[in-house]
Amino acid sequence: MTMTKKKLIAGNWKMNGSLAANEALVKALLQGAGAPACDVALCVPAPYLAQVQSLVASSSLALGAQDVSAHPQGAFTGEQSAVMLKDFGVRYAIVGHSERRQYHGETDEGVAAKAAAVLANGIMPIVCVGETLAQRDAGQTEEVVKRQLAAIIHVNGHCISEIVVAYEPIWAIGTGKTATPAQAQAVHALLRAQLHHAASEHAAGIRILYGGSMNAANAAELLGQPDIDGGLIGGASLKAADFLQIIAAAA
Ligand code: PEP
Repeated sequence: MTMTKKKLIAGNWKMNGSLAANEALVKALLQGAGAPACDVALCVPAPYLAQVQSLVASSSLALGAQDVSAHPQGAFTGEQSAVMLKDFGVRYAIVGHSERRQYHGETDEGVAAKAAAVLANGIMPIVCVGETLAQRDAGQTEEVVKRQLAAIIHVNGHCISEIVVAYEPIWAIGTGKTATPAQAQAVHALLRAQLHHAASEHAAGIRILYGGSMNAANAAELLGQPDIDGGLIGGASLKAADFLQIIAAAA
């Protein structure tokens, strides 16, 4: 059976933007993207969810969030629940981004709980995994990414087909130092095999994105790898022309 799997290009704006800049960016994307051959998501800062929801309404661009609480409501000052994200039409939520793991002490178990919270609300988690440079140099890449993904599978295995995985080598994020297509493909193949082991009938259909300095110049080659099903794009997602070129490369 041949699987038809649309690639996913997800922009992670991180903590960037303003009402004016967001409007200009989204309007340029709407004008340039037409009817994209891939799925496209914009993961925006929480205060701008309402603005971007209305800007992308009835378009082919989907709204995404950058993080979520594992809890449904209550005394969790500063957090947003998956129920709230759903209220704003959010379709994707990044969980376990390395910046959250690094600066907010997020654990594999905590990230798995966040994935469960969004899945329970019909939102697709984009689960980030990836190794540091020291871990890569020590030959620990496989062990690290498999441990991170195993926690997700352990808690969410029953709805594994609704998950998106993003392999983001930490040393490539925001550094301009991209993994080579062969380096990325090698890790994607490991993750695919792990998904296959957990849920053989779904593994081929699960999208595994690459993230880490993907840009207009390197996107086509990365996206041409057999197990790279899209991209999670930071810096280049803030520039309409660059992001549009990446979307075109995913066609
Ligand atoms: C990211 O933040 O997920 C990311 C991949 O960033 P960049 O594209 O800027 O490396």
